[in-house]
Amino acid sequence: MKLKELFQHIKFLYNKTFSSKYVVKGKCKACGKCCRSIVFYDGEDLIKTEEQFEKAKLKNKRMNMFEISGVDETDGALTFVCKSLRPDGKCGAYWIRSMFCREYPFVVPDFIRNNGQTLEGCGYSFGVDKEFKEYLK
Ligand code: SF4
Ligand code: SF4
Repeated sequence: MKLKELFQHIKFLYNKTFSSKYVVKGKCKACGKCCRSIVFYDGEDLIKTEEQFEKAKLKNKRMNMFEISGVDETDGALTFVCKSLRPDGKCGAYWIRSMFCREYPFVVPDFIRNNGQTLEGCGYSFGVDKEFKEYLK
């Protein structure tokens, strides 16, 4: 390996290790909004009709844990509410909830780069672990 390539490789590893990363900031307010604003895909298609939902339930029994809560105005997708959500906004299956629920909200860099945000009013937000001005110090 030439010296120049080696240098570029080290620079790449340095940047990868020490450059800022997207992180989730804040705290859950237990409002339950994310548990009642869920959208589902059947394959690559957003579920937009009750018929699609019924078919998806036959393929995946876990879908029976949800019921239709409304329609997303931006894309016409049906929204779903989890049947374990309690009226006070807390999770009725907290200790046995899925990894999906435990890890929400997820850091998806492309989504954040395109101004993707957490749900309105959510206690979490996306940010970076090191602000630009800190690099200038
Ligand atoms: S299992 Fe709990 S955290 Fe997960 S969607 Fe249902 S109510 Fe929300
Ligand atoms: S929308 Fe945000 S604050 Fe509300 S329950 Fe979900 S994660 Fe927590």
